[in-house]
Amino acid sequence: MDDGRPAPDKRWSLRGVTEEGDEAWLIRGVSRKLYRCPGCHGEIEIGAEHTVVQYVHRLGGTEHHHWHRRCAEELVIPDLRQVRRVPASESSQRRLEARGRVKAGRRRR
Ligand SMILES: [Zn+2]
Repeated sequence: MDDGRPAPDKRWSLRGVTEEGDEAWLIRGVSRKLYRCPGCHGEIEIGAEHTVVQYVHRLGGTEHHHWHRRCAEELVIPDLRQVRRVPASESSQRRLEARGRVKAGRRRR
């Protein structure tokens, strides 16, 4: 990471691995409706830039939540291992959901 404070933006998403061995993808999002951040339980206003955290489970399946950027930086990223930047184009929801249909051992890196 260049700046020591990784955050997803338009060009880059982040990918890490949770303690349970699931993939966690952090993607920049712009909210189209009101979301409630799981970190602070505060609202994410419509139109706000925020961080979508999408898990691709080791045994298959995906799950995503909408976080304030700051909350994701403080509460999600520090618990991940092997955090690296990946081009945002590789982290579309459609691609990740397709990835979730394959068990981890058979996924391509
Ligand atoms: Zn929050």
